[in-house]
Amino acid sequence: MNTKSIRNVDIIGDIHGCYDELILLLDKLGYKNQEGLYRHSDNRMLVFVGDLCDRGPKSLAVLELVKKLVEAKLAYHCPGNHDDKLLRWCQGRRVQVKHGLETTVEEIEKTEDPTGTRRWIEEYIKSLPLYLQFDQGELVVVHAGIRADMIGSNHKRLRDICLYGFPTGNLDKHGLPERDPVIKHYKGRALLVHGHTPVHQPLWEQNVINIDTGCVFGGELTCFRYPEKSFVAVKALKIYGESKRFQLK
Ligand code: MN
Repeated sequence: MNTKSIRNVDIIGDIHGCYDELILLLDKLGYKNQEGLYRHSDNRMLVFVGDLCDRGPKSLAVLELVKKLVEAKLAYHCPGNHDDKLLRWCQGRRVQVKHGLETTVEEIEKTEDPTGTRRWIEEYIKSLPLYLQFDQGELVVVHAGIRADMIGSNHKRLRDICLYGFPTGNLDKHGLPERDPVIKHYKGRALLVHGHTPVHQPLWEQNVINIDTGCVFGGELTCFRYPEKSFVAVKALKIYGESKRFQLK
């Protein structure tokens, strides 16, 4: 799928099961619900930076909606580390059912046909590209990070870096894996938009923008509009989870 010819996009940060906030944000952005598909009158495309599931209350509803939009070619989605871990769980691989995955697993097990649910999630997440390029390559979207030389390559660390970014191998002051800022490793010319590490306000440094504003932790769900280069956000309706990385002020 060549997305490079697409220019007008609305990029949405980590949702983590915050379906109600997603619907509020789509409404605020001017998307109209037409028989379950959200369309914009200016032919804009939705882009999801990944981490649709885990921790929040409605991970399956988010996955179902985004899958439907992607299949209707109204949206693009590159997976986050949580989406990837859910995929591995669906495949029956050995993963730890914690850090929020337990909430998504519980939702799946409550469906009428858990095996069928696992199967469609597996097929869907497996089909996703690790990163996306728009506007003739002027805009790159990825969950956690990428290096400029990895774009268009099949570097052996591509997958890990797209999903997990740049862990330093050390622990931070909270005992969590420390992460290098993306700008330390990304030296490309294209604008790079990512999520993964919750911040209180969208963080724009050089040509790298982090739009994970910790909705599931009681922050906001943020959209970055391109080429306008503006932010639109809605506040979390509730605090659904806690993170040492994101403490409410
Ligand atoms: Mn996340």
